[in-house]
Amino acid sequence: MNLTRATITEIVEAVKAKSVSAKEVTAHFLKRAEELNPKLNAFTSFNVNAVSQAEEIDARIARGEDPGPMAGVPFGIKEMLCTKGLVTNAGSKILQNFIPPYDATVVARLKKAGVVITGKLNQDEFAMGSSNETSYFGGVKNPWNLDCVPGGSSGGSAAAQAARLCAGTIGTDTGGSIRQPASFCGIVGVKPTYGRVSRYGIVAYASSLDQAGPMVSTVKDAALTLEVISGHDEKDSTTSQRKVPRWSQELSSNIKGMKIGLIKEYMQGGLHADVQKTVDNAVDALKKMGAEIVEVSIPMTEYAVPVYYLVAASEASSNLARYDGVKYGYRAEFQNLSAVELEDFYGKTRGQGFGKEVKRRIMLGTYCLSSGYYDAYYNKAGQVRRMIMNQYLEAFKNCDIILSPVTTSPAFKIGERVSDPLTMYLNDIFTTSTNLAGLPGMSVPFGMSSEGLPIGIQLTATHFEEQDMLNVGFALEDASPVKGKVPHVI
Ligand code: GLN
Repeated sequence: MNLTRATITEIVEAVKAKSVSAKEVTAHFLKRAEELNPKLNAFTSFNVNAVSQAEEIDARIARGEDPGPMAGVPFGIKEMLCTKGLVTNAGSKILQNFIPPYDATVVARLKKAGVVITGKLNQDEFAMGSSNETSYFGGVKNPWNLDCVPGGSSGGSAAAQAARLCAGTIGTDTGGSIRQPASFCGIVGVKPTYGRVSRYGIVAYASSLDQAGPMVSTVKDAALTLEVISGHDEKDSTTSQRKVPRWSQELSSNIKGMKIGLIKEYMQGGLHADVQKTVDNAVDALKKMGAEIVEVSIPMTEYAVPVYYLVAASEASSNLARYDGVKYGYRAEFQNLSAVELEDFYGKTRGQGFGKEVKRRIMLGTYCLSSGYYDAYYNKAGQVRRMIMNQYLEAFKNCDIILSPVTTSPAFKIGERVSDPLTMYLNDIFTTSTNLAGLPGMSVPFGMSSEGLPIGIQLTATHFEEQDMLNVGFALEDASPVKGKVPHVI
């Protein structure tokens, strides 16, 4: 068995059939990760107990117990998710040495399903960024071209998965952080409907937008992983009570008669030629499979980026107030702590602990929430957000799935956009409205630029209709001209 190229489903079957042990699988991926990580900087730390945890799975199988639907599958987890006993730093100096005493619900559910956590994955600081360049622990490199960014903020997850340093990864998506790096690195990334997956134990960035989801190699693997991590959680009151469908078993590439919507406002040019070609090819492929293509209009999408940055920065400024150096996390050094004024204590600690981008967002957000400006900014943004969602719901009366680009261009060069935050923010032009409206979205690899960089297609469904979205993704994956293509590091 070629473990490096094996899908999650194949690994589970082989482990359950005892043709390979969970220990062997884990050791294989750990070795790969340790060898290749110096090139990519995707992992921030490894789980030294991974092999012995894999042995426990093998012991369960030997005893005839059910080892779970994801038995023996090695996963890397984004630094945003709390992992009991493993450093969870959110890409920030302020949490550099933070070891949580508990697991995020997503992590707990993966472990219960038999997943072995092999380590933690690099990301933009507090998930603020689109290139992984804001991480305190250094940027991540794109395995398809080491001079390019892997995207962000889940850049470590995308790079680790594309280079197959693990069999699956988890990312988080507040404004595109699963879909954009998935597109840049040629993997499948799914952001579930808001409320599908528990946020308990996930470092909070913008609570009304954050969702965690799978970043894996195939649509089926994404469906299976999503099944395991989804569902009501009494520890997160925003999770839905809805039953979790068996997406992986219901997966079907028969999309005949399905209506695929193209957003009129997204088709006004300005796309990189290879991205445009990828979108056109995907539309042609879906037509050939019997789907009907319709045009839909979401004029308010024009405001998605400013509304997103207003909402996200405001919520972040409030969420990040907890990092004060008192209870946990980094604390600035003081000669004589008892003689320090509280304001100086906070100021110095937060001044040293947070990076530049995080500080920029805290300042913007604090301003938007301040008395006298709250109505003009945060409230107004909330109203526009509602209008964006209403227009989406209207559009979904005429189509089942909306197809769009993920980004305007393939992965850009490291350093190219760091000094220009506005250009960096504009990266999120096609991804943020999905979060604002709470909809599920995914990226499926479907093209390659002339320079050999992957290009994904974004699919969006209405609330809780992940199955339709996964089915169209499954059909596209099957018809993809880049099917089976992997970066040369493999
Ligand atoms: N790039 C966006 C931001 O910087 C999205 C990040 C995310 O989804 N976490 O906020």
